[in-house]
Amino acid sequence: MAGSTEGQKLEFQTEAKQLLHLMIHSLYSHKEIFLRELISNASDALDKLRFESLTNPSILDSSTELAIKVKADKDAKTITISDNGIGMSRQEVIKNIGTIARSGSKAFIEKMTGDQKADSNLIGQFGVGFYSVFMVASSVKLTTKRAGSDEAAVVWESNGESQYSLSETQKEDHGTEIVIYLKDEESEYAQDWQVRSIIKKYSDFIAFPIYLPNEKGKEEVVNQSKPLWLRPASEITSEQYEDFFTSSLGGFGKPLTILHNRVEGILEYTSLLFIPSKSPFDLFSMERKHGVKLYVKRVFIMDNCKELLPEYLRFVRGVVDSEDLPLNVSREILQKNPVIERISKALVNKILTKLKELSETEPETYRTFWQEFGPVFKEGIHSDFENKEQLLELVRFQSSMGASKDDLVSLKQYVGRMPQDQKHIYYITGDSREIVEKSPHLEVFRDKSIEVLYLVDPIDEWIVNDIYNFEGKELKSITQGDLDLGDLGKEEKETQEKTKSEYKKLSERIKNILSDSVKEVRVTTRLKDSPACLVADDNAMGSHMERLMKAMGQEVTEQKRILEINAEHPILQNMNSRYEKDPKDAHLEQWAHLLFEGALIAEGQMVPDPLAYSKRVNELLIKVSSS
Ligand code: ADP
Ligand code: MG
Repeated sequence: MAGSTEGQKLEFQTEAKQLLHLMIHSLYSHKEIFLRELISNASDALDKLRFESLTNPSILDSSTELAIKVKADKDAKTITISDNGIGMSRQEVIKNIGTIARSGSKAFIEKMTGDQKADSNLIGQFGVGFYSVFMVASSVKLTTKRAGSDEAAVVWESNGESQYSLSETQKEDHGTEIVIYLKDEESEYAQDWQVRSIIKKYSDFIAFPIYLPNEKGKEEVVNQSKPLWLRPASEITSEQYEDFFTSSLGGFGKPLTILHNRVEGILEYTSLLFIPSKSPFDLFSMERKHGVKLYVKRVFIMDNCKELLPEYLRFVRGVVDSEDLPLNVSREILQKNPVIERISKALVNKILTKLKELSETEPETYRTFWQEFGPVFKEGIHSDFENKEQLLELVRFQSSMGASKDDLVSLKQYVGRMPQDQKHIYYITGDSREIVEKSPHLEVFRDKSIEVLYLVDPIDEWIVNDIYNFEGKELKSITQGDLDLGDLGKEEKETQEKTKSEYKKLSERIKNILSDSVKEVRVTTRLKDSPACLVADDNAMGSHMERLMKAMGQEVTEQKRILEINAEHPILQNMNSRYEKDPKDAHLEQWAHLLFEGALIAEGQMVPDPLAYSKRVNELLIKVSSS
């Protein structure tokens, strides 16, 4: 009941319940990280208070030391963690730890693998830190008072099952105190030396002092309490970087690469950036929480400062601490701020240079990067005109020369290994490698060992236009326009001229039969084994693009394509001789339709009238089987 000290019982939201259940029953490894999570929350709360006090000085007494205190009690089997940070109001308690409204928890549950080690690594990724306390606690009592509010302090208690209780109490100072009642089998954590070593291991870099009683019972700071990014890189171990990445930046696993820089001169700032080795669940969500945190003179300003890095680098996590911005910066000031713009430019440059270096010295690492973030990174080709050249060196594609989807090629490599007479960079777009690989359009390219890039990410359709040309070689779709291989296709061109006139009448006849579906029928040199294929006009939208646009709900007027026929193929040769005998031969009609439908199927498309199609095939089968 509100207003009374009598506990009010509330139900956890369904997802919170599921999560708690998992915490209690399925996660057994690395239980000690509960302490890291709670200390990280305390540190966030202190950051928030300091930030709020910039605009509202009355909430923080200038003589107050912002700090975290930890105490273990062996006999009572408890650990107590307190901070004098921002605290929470009753509503905030309900919102922040009674429900997990964040989309993260649901995604977390979906991603649980059942593999305990992997699953406990997931915890950080989904921001479900607080609940990890139930790995070791039989019950938890949290007392909190919101800074700058008249509301009474709130007590939240739970044993991690379906309910929690809320009541009111007296609390002198703002901030939060959490008492953990350890399960019997976890009581070993309730020893000062244990707690001390866990803090040293995971939380040494926390920017606020963490106090713990020493042997004489006197409180003593146990961490270095200097932000990690301000320490010289040479003094930081890779474990410390990794712990910072997981507990302060919501990262998980080992980062792929770390960029730690201090810049002095016209601008002064420190940046510590991480490129993760796995993409987070929310890379494509608008409400991403993590990204780059902005600090000004060591004061936390905001999470996920979007002005610091362009969207296509949104997978990068880290901290930027600037000496030049005013402490009272707001989101509005950050937009179009010259300091931020210059920092951002320098960061982008650093990241791209680092990626280039990785691609040259650690191809395996670079491949991992590309597989995780390639589709996002490629957006840069469209949006970051200034760095286009650098970006073009970094993009990778699958290709017809690669044995599998792990075999990637850069544009530079492509151009470097193409035959001398080749004038263009050829590509094919489609939904997957499996589909484009079987395309009849590839036949002549395979025959002549000309490499074709496989563009199988939805975004590729957009970026080919942005790339347009590389080192003077234009990008050309092999499913669009009349094929011109230049000198490489000299022989074929000569035969084509001859067959064109031989097949002129038949081409016209087929065109008349299929006039509802195709724009033109012509003899081609691009096919070797298939009888026919469909190509788009030079300046028309490709069929893959058409499908993408439709999938996005855009209206597209379907454009008729050109049916190209292979005059070397027995089917066409038969058709031609039939036509010469009797231009009105009824079989021609059937066959023309089947040619068209076969070409569609080869592209992985549906035939427009499946019933009519199967009827045609059946009639053909009857004829063959009865002859
Ligand atoms: P995250 O830290 O990723 O937001 P947590 O589960 O660790 O997720 O914490 C949930 C929320 O509970 C925090 O976002 C914060 O709003 C609140 N919270 C947790 N601990 C504290 C604390 N010591 N002081 C103030 N608020 C806290
Ligand atoms: Mg947390």
